Amino acid sequence: MACVFCTLPEIKDRQILEENNLAWAFPTNIPITQGHTLVVPKRCVSTFEDLTAEEILAVFTLAKKITNALRKVYGAEGFNFAWNQEKLAGQAVPHFHLHILPRKEGDTGLLGYDPRSFLYRTGDREPLPEAEILKMRDEIKGGF
Ligand SMILES: [Zn+2]
Repeated sequence: MACVFCTLPEIKDRQILEENNLAWAFPTNIPITQGHTLVVPKRCVSTFEDLTAEEILAVFTLAKKITNALRKVYGAEGFNFAWNQEKLAGQAVPHFHLHILPRKEGDTGLLGYDPRSFLYRTGDREPLPEAEILKMRDEIKGGF
């Protein structure tokens, strides 16, 4: 499957807003909020685990620079950083991309997407007993 990030001339030739040695960033064409930016590794790989340590550093160094700029430019009061990985989780382009969404009071509901409501459900969830948390910790450690 062709990757639009690597093939669309409007992205590669005109819309890159910043880059470093291993990553580049561009504003998405379907922004959820004003300033919604994607940061991608230059190498066309699809998942977080595909990234080298150097690429992770490059992506997040660029993300930091973009975040500072979005705070200044749009007066962002908060940010969502997120990526969807693999088809089941909603990844539409098979090239790793970190979303940076500047947030401001009152912007919720724009295009009906609010990561906060997905990641931080409140109210009807009981906290896990510590024994279950420790079990989960050990299960995850079993994968190292
Ligand atoms: Zn690509």
